[in-house]
Amino acid sequence: MARRKGNRAAVTPRSEARPKLLSIVCPAYNETENLAAFVVSVEACMRAIAQPFEIVFVNDGSSDGTLELMNRLRQTHGRIAIVDLSRNFGKEIATTAGLDQAKGDAVVVIDADLQDPPEIIAEMIAGWREGYDVVYARRRERHGDGPVKKLTAALFYRVIHRVGAVEVPENVGDFRLMSRKAVDAVCSMREQHRFMKGIFAWIGFPSMEVLYDRAPRAAGTTKWNYWRLWNLSIEGITSSTLAPLKFSTYFGFATALVAFVSGAFFIVKTLFFGDPVPGFPTLVVVVLFLGGIQLMVLGVIGEYLGRVFNETKRRPLYFATEVYPSDAGSGWPTVRKAV
Ligand code: UDP
Ligand code: MG
Repeated sequence: MARRKGNRAAVTPRSEARPKLLSIVCPAYNETENLAAFVVSVEACMRAIAQPFEIVFVNDGSSDGTLELMNRLRQTHGRIAIVDLSRNFGKEIATTAGLDQAKGDAVVVIDADLQDPPEIIAEMIAGWREGYDVVYARRRERHGDGPVKKLTAALFYRVIHRVGAVEVPENVGDFRLMSRKAVDAVCSMREQHRFMKGIFAWIGFPSMEVLYDRAPRAAGTTKWNYWRLWNLSIEGITSSTLAPLKFSTYFGFATALVAFVSGAFFIVKTLFFGDPVPGFPTLVVVVLFLGGIQLMVLGVIGEYLGRVFNETKRRPLYFATEVYPSDAGSGWPTVRKAV
């Protein structure tokens, strides 16, 4: 069931049976309905395999009572760290903020809505023990996604496979376990335009996949509408490849060639047969066509130029209002009060 990728020769089983500490990074934006169930479920799974862990919650500028709930859970459960971001930065940056705070020698990235089943973490740890640095979960079926979402997702992966410099595995989200080595690699990449799937693929390292069924959201609604997904796709392509710029160049050449050939054709035609009908409509079509292509190509260049502009500002990725550490590393189990 599990597939191994990367340089298998480099994989030597680890001497430890399990990570000394597993950090579970969970970005959350307006997740009051899910967090309590999430903590209970993660705790049960970790207890079942006797795995010491900490949960690193990132409050991504929620506008409901998510932060208060996180604080309450932290009071009662211990082993919970909270990074309270100063505003909504989006999932990619929230995940990075969590990774920055994670102390474990292995780290799992997981969604708060229980769409990523915590039960899979045990399988991921088995992969870690085998020596893999990245164990990612691949969805078997896209339950809960409509036909349009399935189609657009398939189209996106096809495009990124074609033009991308690195291979982004299909139907794989951010749900994964990473060794300390892999986490440090991800954290060292501080670009503003973060397409996590691209970054995770770019770092390399021996990786392995486990399959799972993605359940529909436990509660609440998805934060991704089609506009955000479209922007994520553009981010995914422009942050990992220069192919659209090359494509623009060749497209420009091809159009110029067509213009040249048809120009020559019209000159020859006029010389031999004259020009009885003034070609006004043709002219309008050609001008509009060329104008359209020029604007499109300028748009593509603009996408890249804008990214260069944002990166040159060298701003920090995020600001945290407050960071509350977990009490991980102080014995097991640390449930301060019964729930
Ligand atoms: N999320 C976040 N910031 C955002 C949007 C989402 O931290 O701006 C979190 C959200 O709370 C959840 C995870 O990212 O834990 C995945 O979000 P969602 O379930 O909306 O995405 P989907 O599962 O539909 O891809
Ligand atoms: Mg979700």
